Amino acid sequence: MKNCYCNSNKIFSECCEPYILLTQKAPTAESLMRSRYSAYCVQNVDYILATTHPSTRKFHNKKEILAFASQNTWIKLEIINASETTIEFKALYIDNNLKSQMHHEKSTFKKEEESWFYVDGEWF
Ligand SMILES: [Zn+2]
Repeated sequence: MKNCYCNSNKIFSECCEPYILLTQKAPTAESLMRSRYSAYCVQNVDYILATTHPSTRKFHNKKEILAFASQNTWIKLEIINASETTIEFKALYIDNNLKSQMHHEKSTFKKEEESWFYVDGEWF
């Protein structure tokens, strides 16, 4: 049993995995955000694109997401603030030069037909 990548203190198969495998829908923006972080950890680019809102999906491409996901070693996710549709978080990772990095973003999410989508984010 593996602890979930998203630092929820739950096991992966009872946290983000069912969303990434598309067997369950993430019920909240925060659970979607957590599962997208975990998808970076397991390099599931299809899930990251599928959960990006169709209106902004064109700004993302599979190759770049895969490079970002795989070149970095994902250490930790910290949720700073969460509202119904926005999540501010910090993702800590080690880059390919073995330097510690932090990605700090406030993301906006939208629910459409029972599914949550990532729309866009403000980076700090
Ligand atoms: Zn999780």
